[in-house]
Amino acid sequence: MDRQERPGRQGEELISRFPDHEQQLSALQADDRLRALKSRDGLDFASNDYLGLADSPELREALVEGAQLGLPAGSGGSRLLRGNHPEHEALEADAARHYGSEAALFFSTGFAANAALFATLPQRGDLIVHDELIHASAHDGMKLGRAERRPAKHNDPGAYEDVILHWRKSGGLGRVWIAVESLYSMDGDRAPITALSEIAARHDAVLIVDEAHATGVFGPEGRGLAAGIAGDENVITLHTCGKALGCEGALLCAPRVIIDFLINRARPFIFSTAPSPLMAHLVRRAITLTTDRPERRMRLDGLVAHAEAKLLDRLGVHPTGSQIIPVILGDNGRTMEVASALQHAGFDVRGIRPPTVPIGTARLRLSITLNVTAADIDALVAAMEKAMARLPA
Ligand code: PMP
Repeated sequence: MDRQERPGRQGEELISRFPDHEQQLSALQADDRLRALKSRDGLDFASNDYLGLADSPELREALVEGAQLGLPAGSGGSRLLRGNHPEHEALEADAARHYGSEAALFFSTGFAANAALFATLPQRGDLIVHDELIHASAHDGMKLGRAERRPAKHNDPGAYEDVILHWRKSGGLGRVWIAVESLYSMDGDRAPITALSEIAARHDAVLIVDEAHATGVFGPEGRGLAAGIAGDENVITLHTCGKALGCEGALLCAPRVIIDFLINRARPFIFSTAPSPLMAHLVRRAITLTTDRPERRMRLDGLVAHAEAKLLDRLGVHPTGSQIIPVILGDNGRTMEVASALQHAGFDVRGIRPPTVPIGTARLRLSITLNVTAADIDALVAAMEKAMARLPA
């Protein structure tokens, strides 16, 4: 049935069946914030496939190998029923070894892992102090949970400590959980992990580090920016597998008791079909690749340095010291127009608008991956100069 036929008629006027929803969509459009799916096209300056593994011969080979080993495409059920497969357990053992934790748990997505973790671990009477820029999945988990939650100013350790002290003074008695991303997804800057772990130690708090964008890229053997403190009994790290590892899913690394608790209490884990055993096999290979093939990480470092120098020189864009480089334009409409001009010129660059980023900070989120070359970066910067001159602020 086509869209025009569905609504009822009142006189000659079409009455929408979902007026509230349509009104909200119109409001988003008026604010240049209407989202629509767009197919992948042009040079990749948008993906999180930082090491170019998603479409690599190595992971294709692992897929064939997994199929030859007889690994099933589907798990057939949740982990606690028939869905558990030795390949999941082998991956979790590999992950615990690689990321330096006592135990690990494989989730279908990073979103599910964060939702599970934040909804389940902090208890009633506890406090979660989270960075103000923490990912939507952590917010959703916290909303489902029973602990109090307070934001702290982005990357300001003093602000985190003030929140904790204030909460204690006002009678807070429970445990404190500190939640950060090690490399912020939309800003490309790093959390002050050392300072935060000292604060955690002072307040007997647990530090939760979402390594989504650092896994595979930073730290020894791509073990992330919190590699130095992983394994501490008060540290939990999350390594998503859909970004630099080129696969999908997420590995939550934590003390054994925390993993056992999640297996017993985390609804997104318990009531969900287990990830494909074939995918577990691919992730195992991807982890080995980040260990055995440091040259990918080194090539990425070189490309990032090249992009940073070019962007600073030609457009005054400040480096972030990472593969995520935001070009903040502020205005939603202009951001989308510049992104669209670049897309027409053959560059897959995406505009990011509120509520994904704070109001007034709409931006082009440039992501540097091994799917492009230094010459591609030069061409992008030249196209950005042109597009931004044609669409002045
Ligand atoms: N955490 C952060 C910081 C992220 O950027 C993302 C993905 N955008 C997630 C968690 C969710 O991971 P996934 O894509 O695997 O669901």
